[in-house]
Amino acid sequence: MTPPPDEPRVVYRVDAADRIVSVNDAWRSFATANDGAGLADPLGQSLWQHIGDQGSRDLYSLLFTSVRVSGRSLSYPYRCDSPTLRRLMDMSIEPGDEGSLVFSSRIVSTEPMPHAVMFGQSLPYSLGRVDVCGNCRKVRDRNGWTDIMELFNRGQITAQRNSFTTMYRICPACRTSLRQQANDLLQSSRASMDRVKDILARYHAQFG
Ligand SMILES: [Zn+2]
Repeated sequence: MTPPPDEPRVVYRVDAADRIVSVNDAWRSFATANDGAGLADPLGQSLWQHIGDQGSRDLYSLLFTSVRVSGRSLSYPYRCDSPTLRRLMDMSIEPGDEGSLVFSSRIVSTEPMPHAVMFGQSLPYSLGRVDVCGNCRKVRDRNGWTDIMELFNRGQITAQRNSFTTMYRICPACRTSLRQQANDLLQSSRASMDRVKDILARYHAQFG
């Protein structure tokens, strides 16, 4: 299902220290509709409060640096599912004034889930603990990283309501693709080659 083309983009801006300094009305509506109660008043909060896993923090740090250093925007697909809806989104990160960044996203398409699935770090009950990619929402099982629809198709999720305690990570495919985008932005930027090498070396020292 494709949403109407005039659907407003969900926009927020962070300052040079990655603190949220503004959100638009569409952001507030989206947060309210998606149980973002903890984000009711996001202004002043650090973006990093919401990204727990070190691998994700380092990857997003590389992405943000690549936008700031190059002065160019990047965009990538991601998923932001609700318990009953599979939702493909498009994210764009644009450089703003004085080191700020503007994050702007919109729903590209949606598809109903056969059964409700809740992922969360503290849920009233849980069927178990799973790793979920914070970007594409694939779930790690014994076969690797798998789309939630595949788990329905295989009959691995059959109950009407399913809750899983979740550790958000970045799957290898998303890591490779996002890292490549950051790499390309840095290489095409006007930053000196030494600066680019330094940024990439710091990242590669940890993740290869
Ligand atoms: Zn992924």
